[in-house]
Amino acid sequence: MIPRLKPTLGWGELAAAWTPAGAADVERFEGGFAELMGQRHAIAFPYGRTGLMLLLEALGLKDREVICPAYTCVVVAHAIVLSGNRPVFVDCAAEGFNMDLDQAEAAITDHTGALIATSLFGYPVDLDRLDGIRRRNPGLVVVQDCAHSFAAEWQGRPVQRAGDAAFFGLNISKLITSVFGGMVTTDNADVAGRLRAVRGQRLHPPGWDKGWRRRLYLTAVYPAFSGPIYGTVNRLERLGLLDRFVKYYDDAAIDMPADHLEAMTGVEARVGGRQLRRYHGLIGHRREIAALYDRILGGIPSLRLPPLIEGATYSHYVPCTADREAILEHALSEGVQLGRLIEYSVPELTAYQQVAVGGAFPNAGRLAASTLNLPLHVGPRDARRVAGVVARAVAP
Ligand SMILES: *Cc1c(COP(=O)(O)O)cnc(C)c1O
Repeated sequence: MIPRLKPTLGWGELAAAWTPAGAADVERFEGGFAELMGQRHAIAFPYGRTGLMLLLEALGLKDREVICPAYTCVVVAHAIVLSGNRPVFVDCAAEGFNMDLDQAEAAITDHTGALIATSLFGYPVDLDRLDGIRRRNPGLVVVQDCAHSFAAEWQGRPVQRAGDAAFFGLNISKLITSVFGGMVTTDNADVAGRLRAVRGQRLHPPGWDKGWRRRLYLTAVYPAFSGPIYGTVNRLERLGLLDRFVKYYDDAAIDMPADHLEAMTGVEARVGGRQLRRYHGLIGHRREIAALYDRILGGIPSLRLPPLIEGATYSHYVPCTADREAILEHALSEGVQLGRLIEYSVPELTAYQQVAVGGAFPNAGRLAASTLNLPLHVGPRDARRVAGVVARAVAP
C-alpha cells in the first residue's frame, strides 16, 4: 500500500538516534537549523505548539487577542488559549488556502497583541500585503507559522524572516523531522533572550526514559511505513487502535500532550540534525511530484487542483473535490491511501464554540469538507499510479 505520508529516513538517522546524546546535541541542532533558515537564533522545543505558547508568554502577551487563520492546525489555537490569550479567527481568502489578509487587518483592534501568518500547505503568505499591514500597525507582533512551509519564498523572500519570530513543527509528518519537536527562530536577539529565559523556567529537562522512548518510536517508524506492513497499519488505524499515536486532537478539548513541557532530547536533536542535510533535496522532490500531478490531473473538471507557485514548498498537494469520501474509499481499494487534511475549521470545533471571536468562515468550511492530499514522498512511477487511481475514482 502507498501511505499518504512517509518520513524520509535513512540509516544515518537511525545511527544518529542510537548514539549517546545530550544537551549539547540540542544546541548543535539549533545552530544548524538557524543556519538553514538564514536566521540568527533558533530555540528548540518538544513541540511546535509549545514553542508558540512560550513565545507569546516571552513577548509579554496576556489577555490579548491573537489573530490567526480559521483554517489551520488546531494546536495553534490551543497554544494561543493556553498562553492566556484569545484567538480571533479569520477566514481563508476565496483563492488559495491562506488567511485573507484584508480581513485579518480589519480584525486588528486595541486589544490585538499578535497576528499569526501561516503559509499553509507550503504556500507562501503574501509578504507584500503583510508588509503593508505591518507598516500601518507598527506595534503589531507578527509570528510566522512555518510548520508547513519551512523556508517557502514569496517572490524570492523567505517567509520565516518576515516577522518578529517564526515557529516550526518537527514531528514525523512534517517536511523534516526530529521524531517529535518544534523550533522557534528569530533575528531579534532580545526576543531570543527572553524566549530562552522563559524556556528555562517553564520546561523541565527530559526524563531519563524520554530518549529511549523516542529511539523506540523512531525505530518502529521504519517498518511501519514500508509498503507491505503499512496495509496492516492502515487497518489498525481505521479501527481506532492507533489513536494514541495518530490522533492529535480532541474535538471538545483545548489541551496539550502530557509531555509538552518536557524539553527536547539530545536523541531527537541528533535525528533532526541529520535531516537538515536532506532539506533542499526533499523540497526539490516535492516540487517535482507536485508538477507531475498537475500535468496528469489537469483537465478533470470535478477536481480543483492546487496552484503551482514558485517558492512553495508543498508540505501537501491538495486538490479539492465534492466527492472526497468516495475518492478516498476507491483509492484505498486500489492500495493507495489519500489524506483529508485539514478536515475542520477551528472555530467550528466543539471546544471553540465558546472561545471563538470573529464572524463567519465560509471558505474555511468549504476547504474543510473538500481537501484531498496526494502523497508527495513517492517517486515518479508511484505518483503516476496514484494519479491514475485518482482519475479512475473521479470517473469510475
Ligand atoms: C504541525 C503544525 C504545527 C505545530 O505542531 P506541533 O505538533 O505542535 O509540533 C503548527 N501549525 C501547523 C499549521 C501545523 O501543521
